[in-house]
Amino acid sequence: MDSVHLNSESSNIHAVLFPFMSKGHTIPILHLARLLLHRHISVTVLTTPANLPFISTSLSDTASSVLSLPFPENIPDIPSGIESTDKLPSMSLFVPFANATKLMQPHFEQTLNSLPNITFLVSDGFLGWTLDSATKLGLPRLVYYGMNNYAGSISRDAVNNQLISKPISDDEPFTLTSFPWIKLTRNDFGPPFSDPEPKGPYFEFVVEAAISTSKSYGLLVNSFYDLEPKFVDYWNSHSQPKAWCIGPLCLAQELKHKSEPKPKWIDWLDRKQEQGSSVLYVAFGSQAEISEAQLHEIAVGLEKSMVNFLWVMKKKEEELGNGFEERVRERGLIVREWVDQREILGHESVKGFLSHCGWNSAVESLCAEVPILAWPMMAEQHLNARMVVEEIKVGMRVETCDGSVRGFVKWEGLEKMVRELMEGEKGKMVRKKVVEVGQAAKRAMEEGGSSWKELNELINELHGIRPLAH
Ligand code: UDP
Repeated sequence: MDSVHLNSESSNIHAVLFPFMSKGHTIPILHLARLLLHRHISVTVLTTPANLPFISTSLSDTASSVLSLPFPENIPDIPSGIESTDKLPSMSLFVPFANATKLMQPHFEQTLNSLPNITFLVSDGFLGWTLDSATKLGLPRLVYYGMNNYAGSISRDAVNNQLISKPISDDEPFTLTSFPWIKLTRNDFGPPFSDPEPKGPYFEFVVEAAISTSKSYGLLVNSFYDLEPKFVDYWNSHSQPKAWCIGPLCLAQELKHKSEPKPKWIDWLDRKQEQGSSVLYVAFGSQAEISEAQLHEIAVGLEKSMVNFLWVMKKKEEELGNGFEERVRERGLIVREWVDQREILGHESVKGFLSHCGWNSAVESLCAEVPILAWPMMAEQHLNARMVVEEIKVGMRVETCDGSVRGFVKWEGLEKMVRELMEGEKGKMVRKKVVEVGQAAKRAMEEGGSSWKELNELINELHGIRPLAH
């Protein structure tokens, strides 16, 4: 992207970015850092020692500063040295982990005090306590959650109209009040939000974070207006603070092409391309916990589908057993390392993405013009899957064996939909649509595009409320 001269004084603006300690929350903030740097804004990123190498490497070609604050020690149940949710032994430890970050507040404030002329703070929605620090220092806080407006707005509509507790069963559909073409089930939300009277530590944590968000200056959304105009408008007329659509953030960074030495999976994709074959990319993000029985069905479904596939899995999910890898050797590659997902999605041979619909993965897929086979697992991914399939129509969904959105997927339900995506008529339709959406995404981020303008407008506004120190 060309550099942007916001105005002659933008080089005096200083933004402090504090991402939450998980890959899906950190990566887009690092892309935001690039967008700010392109606008000649100074950027300081705060993190913790174990997350520093990833962040420093990601930003090594930029002029940003990266500082680390100590991560709290001796937190019950959190193994020492674990400073990122993707490294937790189980996602059931999310709440103690997230609450532990509150103990960083004194160091956080000392650091803010030591930095020159900060104009604004961007911190993750899960770091709600940072609002208190920002307020003490008179800094506007912008919140980043990583959710789209569709998920935020339909959740709000369901809660405000008390729709979630109405159905008798968890799979009985109910119709949204403000979006009557959308039907959801309680299972689209999952516990504790699907409980008639939600309670418990996770619920309390989310409510606390939401209250901090509502009192903050603005919400940064990794989306663009034309992708979900009704949901952006709904949010901005029913909720606080204002949502600023400044994405897709991943487009802030040029794709690396032909990096040497090539990772073995890029070599493999090159070979598939030479053979004129298309490949299904399979990945469920950095956090999803998949049972052994479900992993087995995935392996069988992929094997029976006869498509070429590149399956990136987490180290923990090692055992596929029964000579699977040997049998699929020619047409299936399993990778257990950290990959550059955007490089894979951008490869000419990749024609489909079997994805958990973490919002970053979904956005990266549509930017790469690759249609999605949605298989949501946790968090707001069920809502993202509905958005991808029903609203923007750039994907299809795997079939569960009992029709419930949270049901078990047998290999037959996977095989059928993999073939449909890669070879079927519906596959052709979503493939055509994702090209349109991908091109609209690029237009939004280009100079003069909606996201480009929105970020400039936001920065000008922040500049106005916090005039530069002379
Ligand atoms: N990712 C990656 N390489 C990997 C695994 C994940 O680059 O080996 C990136 C992926 O491109 C995305 C992020 O990690 O930007 C995962 O975020 P997402 O919202 O898709 O899922 P989560 O991991 O938060 O469930």
